[in-house]
Amino acid sequence: MIIYNSATRQREEFVPNNPDIVKMYTCGPTVYHFAHIGNLRSYIMEDILEKYLRFAGYNVKRVMNITDVGHLTSDADEGEDKMLKGARRENKTVMDIARFYTEAFFSDCRKLNIKRPDVVEPATACIDEYIKIIEKLMDTGFAYFSGGNVYFDTSKMEKYYIFNDFNADDLAEGVREGVEADSNKRNKNDFVLWFTKSKFEDQALKWDSPWGVGYPGWHIECSGISMKHLGEDLDIHCGGIDNAFPHHTNEIAQSEAYLGHKWCNYWMHVLHLNTNSGKMSKSSGEFLTVSLLEEKGYDPLAYRLFCLQSHYRKSLVFSWENLDNAVVTFNKLIGKIAALKPENGEYDAAAFDALRAKFSAALDNDLNTSLAVTAIYDVLKAKTTDTTKLAALAEFDKVLSLNLIEKAAAKREADAKAKAAAANVAFAVISEDGEEDKAVEELILARRDAKKAKNFAEADRIRDELKAMGIEVTDIPNGAKWKRV
Ligand code: AMP
Ligand code: ZN
Repeated sequence: MIIYNSATRQREEFVPNNPDIVKMYTCGPTVYHFAHIGNLRSYIMEDILEKYLRFAGYNVKRVMNITDVGHLTSDADEGEDKMLKGARRENKTVMDIARFYTEAFFSDCRKLNIKRPDVVEPATACIDEYIKIIEKLMDTGFAYFSGGNVYFDTSKMEKYYIFNDFNADDLAEGVREGVEADSNKRNKNDFVLWFTKSKFEDQALKWDSPWGVGYPGWHIECSGISMKHLGEDLDIHCGGIDNAFPHHTNEIAQSEAYLGHKWCNYWMHVLHLNTNSGKMSKSSGEFLTVSLLEEKGYDPLAYRLFCLQSHYRKSLVFSWENLDNAVVTFNKLIGKIAALKPENGEYDAAAFDALRAKFSAALDNDLNTSLAVTAIYDVLKAKTTDTTKLAALAEFDKVLSLNLIEKAAAKREADAKAKAAAANVAFAVISEDGEEDKAVEELILARRDAKKAKNFAEADRIRDELKAMGIEVTDIPNGAKWKRV
């Protein structure tokens, strides 16, 4: 499998440290609010990576943190703790907020068929881990105590910038725009490992430490949780692209300074979901959630398909029109799968293997999910039995997780019911692909009326009009069925 490694900025063959188990770490949500569908784009693509590794034959151990302390309103250690902000907004305790939004996050994940990682660990459960790492960093001179906080000294790293070659000064200013510089830092990019002093003295959760009562910085939690569950080395670390700097850069600095050797081999970053007005973010206040999609009548899995249709390394623009297009594609696809007859013919192993190989080739190529979706059409067009096609689609769905087989079965059942009901009505208009289009239905009914009135010229004219719209109509007893061609 080829994967793009952000740390080397190259496409590389994926080779795990230990062929028996792939160790994978994912930055989890900051649970001060609902996840927006941009966050969930990252989790969908990471879910595909995990499932594809398993599909390709690897065992995977995947760990994810839940950020319930230490993530300040600026990624550069400035501002208020996001959790406290959430608690104040809702007049609840920090722990209530954490519990509520953690549950909401996993509920959204279930709706999107995102598998729960093997280990999910809240940051507040691993304080001892962070203290152990910070103590060693203090002993070895990578960390210093200043103005009440413990900082990591980035000047001690031979190579601090991993994911970019930016000029350090530009980067520092960009990140801290509009925020006062912290005069306790020796270097602009030094970051807090342990806070005992912040401008917000009412920080809700605090723990004792060798440096005083306080709380951990955001970056240390991911190093601590990863090492606790996955040990001293990691195969793949994932996150959204905004995490590359400073979060992942700082994770690497403190982990490698602590371990004295390389920590993680592959870094996978998912580009952002944007709206026409820019990046979707929780702090901007205007963001879309899975519940909102459902309220508007969308199947969350149509959003999953929408994400799979683009490559994770390209930013993706969300619009209702784009989502509507994904819905049409999804319905057509399910209609075509529903038309396959499960009992039709023998299972053909050679054809199945060839279809599976094509699907794997798409995902082996740096997770080309849009090609993997196209492989579904290859199955539908293949010269093999319906039994083989359904088996191949069930196989693909282990990774794609679009409920292709279940949805097709439900559609088959609904169609059969509709047909039975149609037998009792004067005239039924049936869409073969499950698509709803009022304009098409009205034209088909107008054609029926013209035929009834023996106005065959008008009936033919309407058939031509439908044809020009790309609609093929077939007459059936007591009605007509149509499809887009
Ligand atoms: P947070 O809950 O803010 O810690 O973010 C959770 C995950 O979502 C992280 O991996 C972020 O990098 C990622 N993320 C944040 N905004 C977006 C976005 N607009 N599109 C895709 N991923 C995002
Ligand atoms: Zn993280």
